[in-house]
Amino acid sequence: MAASGSMPPLSPQAVLHLRRVRAMLWFGAGLMILMGSSWALFFAYQKAWIIVAVDLLMLASGVRVAFLTLHHRTRAAFYLLLISMYCVVTGISLVFDLPSEAAPRSTHHFLLVLALSALLVLHEERGHLRHWLAGLCFATFAVLAATNGGISTEYGLPDSIRVGGTWVNTIFSVSGVYAIVHIMVSDLAKHSTHEQDLRRGVLRHEFFLVYQPQVNSSGMVTGAEALLRWQHPRRGLVPPGEFIGLAEETGLIVPLGLQALEAACQQLVYWADDPKLATLTLSVNVSAQQFSQKDFVAQVQGILDGKGVVPKRLKLELTESLLVQDVDDVVQKMSLLRALGVGFSLDDFGTGYSSLSYLKRLPLDQLKIDQSFVRDVLTNSHDAAIARTVIHLGKDLGFAVIAEGVETAGQREFLTDNGCYIFQGYLFSKPLPLVQFLEYVRRT
Ligand code: C2E
Ligand code: MG
Ligand code: MG
Repeated sequence: MAASGSMPPLSPQAVLHLRRVRAMLWFGAGLMILMGSSWALFFAYQKAWIIVAVDLLMLASGVRVAFLTLHHRTRAAFYLLLISMYCVVTGISLVFDLPSEAAPRSTHHFLLVLALSALLVLHEERGHLRHWLAGLCFATFAVLAATNGGISTEYGLPDSIRVGGTWVNTIFSVSGVYAIVHIMVSDLAKHSTHEQDLRRGVLRHEFFLVYQPQVNSSGMVTGAEALLRWQHPRRGLVPPGEFIGLAEETGLIVPLGLQALEAACQQLVYWADDPKLATLTLSVNVSAQQFSQKDFVAQVQGILDGKGVVPKRLKLELTESLLVQDVDDVVQKMSLLRALGVGFSLDDFGTGYSSLSYLKRLPLDQLKIDQSFVRDVLTNSHDAAIARTVIHLGKDLGFAVIAEGVETAGQREFLTDNGCYIFQGYLFSKPLPLVQFLEYVRRT
């Protein structure tokens, strides 16, 4: 670790994945509109009004899927596409596309495309829903492929149409399977390349800390938050939004978090000899996974003792995601560290799951109002009410309250008027490399 923006909501891989899913939805919606309208015309010509009604329903669903995709409601668009296409494909296979000597059934091949797209699009959904949906499509495919059965009506398509249709259906469905498998394989390859990259980065100490000042109401720096950055040999400077998620998924957050903690403590040792810096506190983010390590307390104590850090200068920032774990264990570890003098801040407060009864039990020093509330504090009455409530709650429980993401004087004024006197945000400074941070402290 060498000494020394705002978090994008999605990593580049996730953005690429979403873009591909949206492209797939556009393609699906287009297909539904095209198929719905052309079949509706065809059957209207034959005066088969019941089928025309079904085709118009498919057309309407296609339009709705396009509308939802346009408004970025990807999940709803996909469910609508999946359910309506499942009904349409199964219905056509059973009623119109009855196998004959001249041509086998072929419409059901689209069920393979639907099953694979369910696995792809819903891969981050909780529970087993995607397996049930994909399983339903595969099972229906198997039944339709293994049997010749169907519902014989006057609407069954003649062989003259079905022979050509078999080729069209097969080519389209095989192309669909190809496209989806291609997306799956390239997502996987990218993921493992990024993981190797990250592992190498941790081993080679390619990460360093930047420091964002925390100031009081007179503009004096009282401390800083240490934030990781990755100096990637090819990608350049990488912000945490692009690697923390992967580090959590792969467990690399544990050694990475330890590097951050060690580097932050090393700075506290240097600062202890400088009167302007000796009283600053340094906040370090600790992920839930890192905190839940059995020997986390021993690790922190080892670093503090090894380097000779004054423990009360160190503040560990935890998030509410920690509280889905064993709360007794969390309280015990916090109490042990607090007994050493280490402080605790609850980061991104208000965005997670913490219930008030848990909050009461945690030996915290500080609540950090999440920047999503601070951002709209002047324009959204709900966010203003939440910010006010957090400040009062923190005070009633005996905690200090800090607001992060303060960007305007108006926001600072609102916070001061409501009793919050410590701030962090672009209004004061962005996170700075070490040298600039030290200059900033000396200037204020
Ligand atoms: P966080 O701990 O909530 O850190 C605050 C984030 O808000 C930082 O983003 C900071 O640059 C950004 N920020 C601060 N003031 C403003 C502002 O006025 N406007 C806007 N738009 N943004 C502001 P950053 O550095 O990209 O870090 C993102 C997240 O990555 C952090 O959120 C934290 O959850 C995680 N992270 C960073 N370093 C570490 C680390 O060492 N360990 C762990 N576990 N997580 C880390
Ligand atoms: Mg933080
Ligand atoms: Mg935060």
